[in-house]
Amino acid sequence: MDSDTGTSTLALLDSDEPPPVELVNADGRSSAVLVCDHASNRVPRQLGTLGLDAVQLADHIGWDPGAADVARRLSMLLDAPLVLSGYSRLVIDCNRPLRSAGSIAEQSDGVPVPGNRGLSPLERERRVNALYRPYHDAIDRLLDTRTRRPSLLLSIHSFTPVLNGRPRPWHIGISHWRDRRLAALMLGVLARSGEFTVGNNAPYPIEEDVDYTIPVHGEGRGLPSVMIEIRQDGIQTAAGAATWAARLAECYRLIEAEALRIFESSFNANSASDPMALT
Ligand SMILES: [Zn+2]
Repeated sequence: MDSDTGTSTLALLDSDEPPPVELVNADGRSSAVLVCDHASNRVPRQLGTLGLDAVQLADHIGWDPGAADVARRLSMLLDAPLVLSGYSRLVIDCNRPLRSAGSIAEQSDGVPVPGNRGLSPLERERRVNALYRPYHDAIDRLLDTRTRRPSLLLSIHSFTPVLNGRPRPWHIGISHWRDRRLAALMLGVLARSGEFTVGNNAPYPIEEDVDYTIPVHGEGRGLPSVMIEIRQDGIQTAAGAATWAARLAECYRLIEAEALRIFESSFNANSASDPMALT
């Protein structure tokens, strides 16, 4: 079957299901732009439960528990725009290149995902078109509209406290790709408090073959960018999420002026045709 038959465009989402992407506070005035790749564990109705039970889908393999809550609060505190994905990373992972084995994972953290086994190219394409492209198109459109102000991209994630039986010591991690200058500023502020253990490019470094959002929408566009990973046990309650959002907002306020100074030349280069870019 090919796209000429129309089969490949059969909608994956029913008309009464939530959209694949949510844009919050699109006109936010902050220099920060927030994205949340793993905001939801929803699975399109047509895909059932991917063969998993409710406990597995609610676990960290299905999404980043707490990350969307922190991201929404941070969006309010900073007056920053926020883009959230609407469906589970197990359906298609919005932070993986399509060529990556983890794009549509056949197993995750040792759990087989029956609904992802042996997918045809057509089935993969339906997920790309229904979920992956709309999410990344929304980020592109948002960044494209911000020609008159600098944008610093903060990608909000959470990580499981124990992986492969091993407890993880960090309360939060700040990860960067090739340019570590923005990460260094944030790490400096977070570590200064001495209250918690901060991962420097940990628990996950950013890698071109594994990550998509920062390499493409951040550095790929010449924008300063970091991935912020918060340990899930710190944000599983509303109070915990509020605490971390407040810490991150404070951290951002402390580093913003210096970050804008450091990156001024990149913003100018990005918007050479727009003399109002930094006003
Ligand atoms: Zn994540």
